[in-house]
Amino acid sequence: MRRDRKMLCPEREENMARILSGKETASFINKRTSDTVRRLKERGIVPTLHILRVGENPADLSYERSAEKKCRGMEMEVEKTVFPEDVSGEAVLKKIRQLNEDKHVNGVLLFRPLPENLDADKIVNTLDPSKDVDSMTNLSLAGVFAGKKLGFPPCTAQACMEILNYYGIDCRGKKAVVVGRSLIVGKPVSMLLLGQDATVTVCHSRTVDLPSITRCADILIAAVGRAGMIGAEHVSEGQIVLDVGINSKPGGGICGDVDFEAVSPIAGFITPVPGGVGAVTTSVLLSHVARAAERHNGLE
Ligand code: NAP
Repeated sequence: MRRDRKMLCPEREENMARILSGKETASFINKRTSDTVRRLKERGIVPTLHILRVGENPADLSYERSAEKKCRGMEMEVEKTVFPEDVSGEAVLKKIRQLNEDKHVNGVLLFRPLPENLDADKIVNTLDPSKDVDSMTNLSLAGVFAGKKLGFPPCTAQACMEILNYYGIDCRGKKAVVVGRSLIVGKPVSMLLLGQDATVTVCHSRTVDLPSITRCADILIAAVGRAGMIGAEHVSEGQIVLDVGINSKPGGGICGDVDFEAVSPIAGFITPVPGGVGAVTTSVLLSHVARAAERHNGLE
């Protein structure tokens, strides 16, 4: 595989892919964010995230706990509004309008999918795009697709790029294959890779002969939501494999979309689950909140 820049990590160990650590990448981002928070504090500004949750989805609760813990660790403020599953659309819209007006709030995280009785499109697009720290609004997504800084990219898609960047992996000219085409992960990460001059192929459930396509990748990103679906037949020697999947294991714990045991002896570099992309996502979220605070105060 061609490498244009010196990679931070040592050479691949024999018969085992090098681990691309989400934890190390997250520490690197957190340091950057802490510096921004400190600079803001010197001016009397405390970056504030507001979490808006409808219902009690365990995955949302786990992400919320992690975001709250990280916010406090970084001396950022975190507030929360929790609505029951049967909340009316008007009540959620009213809250979002109120958060838009609240000068003290810099970023709003709204967990999705919302219950089916709510008009998700209307709710999401009522949010002030300058507070849209996870790219929910049409304007933020348009920025990702147009390659313009109209807002922030989705945190998970950006987390993949942060890992590649931290390890000095230059995407230019590389063949990237993304498995998954959701608006939250697959499509935006494809656009971000394209923006870094990779040649990108996007695969999905109707893709014919997936292994023959994924095997040609220099960078393979799995964002499918199917435990261990990417196996030895999908990869080739030396590949960089990023596993976005978070799937519950029957006995407890989580696993990725990549069969780690089967793939790591073949791949060159791989993110683990847990401790990979997921570990970076909340750090990206907080970095967006800090940057939103800078923008709101005319400092960026
Ligand atoms: P999603 O909306 O369900 O999308 C899954 C995508 O995978 C779809 O595009 C689907 O294709 C494709 N797919 C399904 N089965 C396939 C198959 N057999 N072959 C090829 N493609 C297939 O899921 P998502 O929200 O993008 O999430 C993907 C995974 O990432 C999940 O495990 C989720 O938990 C995880 N996730 C992680 C983070 C993080 O912070 N690490 C954040 C968000 C999500 P079609 O479009 O044709 O249906």
